Formats: sequence, C-alpha cells, structure tokens
Amino acid sequence: MANEEKVNIVVVDDQPAKLVALDSILAPLGENLIKVESGLKALEFLLKNQCAVIVLDVNMPGMDGFETATLIRQRPSLERTPIIFVSAYNVSDLDRLKGYGIGAVDYLYVPIVPEVLRAKVQAFVDLFRQRQIIIRQAEHLAAQNREKEEQIRVIQRLNEKLREANEEIEAFSYSVSHDLRAPLRAMRGYSEILLTEFSGAVAGEGADYLLRISKAAKQMDALIRDILAYSCVAKAELFLQPLDVSGILRTIMETSEALQPPRAKVTIEDPIVNVVGHEACLNQCLSNLLSNAVKFVTGDRLPEVRIMTQARGSRVRICVKDNGIGIAPAHLDRVFQMFGRVHSGSAYDGNGIGLTIVRKGVERMGGSVGVESEPGVGSMFWIELPAAGKEPVLMDLQPDVEPAVKD
Ligand code: ADP
Repeated sequence: MANEEKVNIVVVDDQPAKLVALDSILAPLGENLIKVESGLKALEFLLKNQCAVIVLDVNMPGMDGFETATLIRQRPSLERTPIIFVSAYNVSDLDRLKGYGIGAVDYLYVPIVPEVLRAKVQAFVDLFRQRQIIIRQAEHLAAQNREKEEQIRVIQRLNEKLREANEEIEAFSYSVSHDLRAPLRAMRGYSEILLTEFSGAVAGEGADYLLRISKAAKQMDALIRDILAYSCVAKAELFLQPLDVSGILRTIMETSEALQPPRAKVTIEDPIVNVVGHEACLNQCLSNLLSNAVKFVTGDRLPEVRIMTQARGSRVRICVKDNGIGIAPAHLDRVFQMFGRVHSGSAYDGNGIGLTIVRKGVERMGGSVGVESEPGVGSMFWIELPAAGKEPVLMDLQPDVEPAVKD
C-alpha cells in the first residue's frame, strides 16, 4: 500500500450523521473517501474522477439512489463502476431487482456491520487496482505494438525499394547479356567462315589471329551465357515438384561428350533417391558439378566420377565425387563465391560463375550445398534437397531456366 496511489471511494448519503458513521467504518482502508450528500454531487465528482466503488444510499430526498445509479450508468466511462446500495430498511424484492437491473453489485441494510462493509469495499478496491495494472500493461503493450508496426512498415518500404532496384538491375543485365550474344555469334561465325572457306587468302599469322578472335568470342559467349543462367536462377519463380534424379543425370550425360567414354568414366550408383526441386534448375546445378568434376583433373588421368545419393532424414544428399586435383582446405570457402576461381585460368578454362549458379539454384530450391576435398586425391561436391514424399508440392509457376553445361 505504501507506494500505491490512493483510490477514490465515493460515499453518498443525505444524512450527515450517516456519512460520519460510514467514514469511520471505511477510514481504516486508507483510501480517499469522497463523502457527498446528494446523487447530483456524486455525479459531478464522478464525471471528472475515477472511482473504485460507490456506496450509495437508496432512500434520499429528491433524486434517490436508483435514479442516481441510472444516471451514473448512462456514462460509458461509469458503466462498470461497482455500486453498493445501502438501504435503511429491508427493500422489497421488486426494489432489489430494480437495483440489480441498473448494475448494483451488492445490497447492505442498516444497521450495517462495519466489518462486512469494509471487506466488500476492500474487495472492490483490490479489483480496481488490478484492473488499473492490466490497463497500464495493455497500454504499454499497445505502445510497443505500435512501435513494432511502424518498424515493420519501414522495413516493408525498404524491401519494396530494394525489390524494385533488384528488378531493374535484373532486367538491365538480362537485356544487356542477351543483346551482347548476337554480335559475338556473328564474330565467331564469320571468323570460322574465313578460316574454312577463305583459307587460301588468310593463312599463317592471319589464320592464327582469326583463331584467337574465334576463341575469345567463344569465351565471352560462355561468360554471358553463365551470367544469363545466374540471373535466371536467381529471379525465376520455381515450381517445385518431385523429380526423377536418375533421369535428369542420364539426360545430362547423354548430351555432353565430355562426360562419356573415352573422355571420362561417370558412374551413377544405385539406388538413386529422388528429391523435390525444379527440373531445369537441378539439371543446371548437376551439369555444372559434373562438368567441373571431369574438368579439374590432371591431363594424365582419366576423369572418374561417381554419383550417389544419401537419404538424410527428410532430405537427400546428391554427391558428385571425382578423382581430380582437389582443393586446398584454405580455398574451400571461395569456390562457391562469384568468380571464386582457385585454379589458374590457363590450365583450366572457365569463368568462376558455375558454382555460384549451383549455390543460388540450390538455395532457391530450399536446399544447401557443400564440398569435401583432398588435394591430389579428389573432391566431393554435394547438393542437399528435400526428399520426394508422396504428397504433391504446390509452388509458383516460373519461366524455364536455360541450362549452361560447360564443355
Ligand atoms: P569455373 O569452373 O568456371 O572456374 P566454378 O564456379 O564452377 O567456376 O568453380 C570455381 C572454382 O572452384 C574453379 O575455378 C576451381 O578452382 C574450383 N573447383 C570447382 N570444381 C572443382 C572440382 N571438381 N575440383 C577441383 N576444383 C574445383
């Protein structure tokens, strides 16, 4: 009590002697006792102040207790304020019903038993205090909510701006890369025609220059194609569904000579567990892993690649294991970064985008990627995706992703 604010208790009685008596009964509660001799005065006070409970005499000249209660109840802020009616004589059942109808919470008859009145008033004071605490907590929570809502609005606005900026960049890079490919193809095509059909006119050093032009155009075409593939994988809305992983692997192997004998020995180890993903996207990711697996091998070794799946709870790991040059532990983090080439460009051609496409594509399909490697022995790259269950998977439609198998 010591630190708590006193609460108001309004006592209404037209007889000063009774007010004094009520005062002596309620004073020990240590609250603010507002003693008024008419219903009107009570109303006047209540319109400006809060109050925990009203002790109201029923029989008053002019406006009696019931009329006063009716007026009090008409104020929305006082709708729930507890009223204890005090009656000089036992009221009839009808009167009592009338009292309850206008929201009386209790009746006391004269002579009042002090302990009973004190206990009842104390109970309402306690209730009032608890309600005040709840109201304060609710206000505090509402303020916090308002603050959070504002923060969410700010984040949403920023996200929207970011999304618009991303869309612009993507549209720009897509059209630029697309438009760049046509002149490159022309350069490559015409230099090849010069080399084959005009070999008499362009020979020796001239033929060498033409070869270089053709090679540079090819490299640049591959770079643009990979940038395009990356932007496709990054922006496409993916429709995820159960996929036939063996089928996808076979298609990749059939369409790339670098993965076939005599250039390489690629083995699919049964059983292959199916996953949920996007077909073109998974095709793209596995193609990149396989082309790397046969590319980063020393010249004196036949590339040998083993593909296997491991069920890991609700997910499946597709592993591509090679017998290549491996990657030193210090460089393992770099390989999935854009242009994160570890081995020299002159020994192994490439542009350092392939594994970035893999990481992005797999992340977009809800999976993860990783690698284990031992220099000189080989590497094992893996893709982990949700296992294909029996339920159909519902996702969004999307434009197809152009596969970018490097050979
Ligand atoms: P790229 O193949 O065009 O160089 P990637 O993004 O596919 O680019 O690979 C990034 C780098 O990771 C490669 O340059 C190479 O250094 C390393 N790497 C990728 N796959 C393998 C592999 N199977 N064995 C050894 N190194 C690899």
